[in-house]
Amino acid sequence: MKRIYLDNNATTKVDPEVFDKMLPWFIENYGNEMSNSHSFGWEAREAVDIAREQIASEIGSEPSEIIFTSGATESINIALRGVIKKSYIKPHIITLKTEHKAVLDTLNNLEQNGVEVTYLNVKKNGIIDFSTIKNAIKKNTVLVSVLHGNNEIGVIQPIKIIGEICRENKILFHVDGAQTLGKIILNMNELNIDLFSMSSHKLYGPKGVGALYIRRKNPRVNLIPITTGGGQEKGIRPGTLPVPLIVGFGEAMRLAIKNLELDSKRIKKNER
Ligand SMILES: *Cc1c(COP(=O)(O)O)cnc(C)c1O
Repeated sequence: MKRIYLDNNATTKVDPEVFDKMLPWFIENYGNEMSNSHSFGWEAREAVDIAREQIASEIGSEPSEIIFTSGATESINIALRGVIKKSYIKPHIITLKTEHKAVLDTLNNLEQNGVEVTYLNVKKNGIIDFSTIKNAIKKNTVLVSVLHGNNEIGVIQPIKIIGEICRENKILFHVDGAQTLGKIILNMNELNIDLFSMSSHKLYGPKGVGALYIRRKNPRVNLIPITTGGGQEKGIRPGTLPVPLIVGFGEAMRLAIKNLELDSKRIKKNER
């Protein structure tokens, strides 16, 4: 029986080109990128650097602003919990009721630990009204978290303007970008984003890897790490890096951007 897969917002297959790129990093070049005294380590580090640059440049950021994680869920946890750990006052967070569980459940958990959270309604068309966000801002609001492309209903929130509102009020802005990475052109500066959570397996990369963009200037975002260990990824996400997965993520990113225009034309053509 021929099966047709129609659930690409849940996960995608690994692109065969991505798979081929990953293979040597399992059994030939299996070094630890932290081993700086031999060529196995140097090669692994170089591969990680290339992937980091690929991801950074495609979202209009610097390699030093990209932290590798196990996926968007972990990135979201590092971002939301890291900002809260850094706040001195009793912090308040604003989000939408239509967020992914990775954000909603993390915020529910933070609420149980004394954080104040406002869950905003969206309009009938699924989009948030700016005035609703403006009205929800309080003196102790430290963060706004919004899902860029919705994984269930497909709406794209007006991130740039929400980012402007956050800037004006000196509030940090986190965006769950799991569904828009590699599907629309993104630029962290133009969109006024401070923290951006990414996943590889939604764009034909491997599962188990993702990244978090953390703005380094205007403003510089400081997070307190939620795990401790060997100091990898500036200590923000310690643990030995999964080099094959990271290489795959970088390649998936490169291919997604290369094919973006053709892909979106093809998909739009079949819209009706
Ligand atoms: C898939 C998805 C996540 C979770 O990403 P993982 O990499 O699987 O942890 C978070 N948010 C959205 C919108 C998603 O589609």
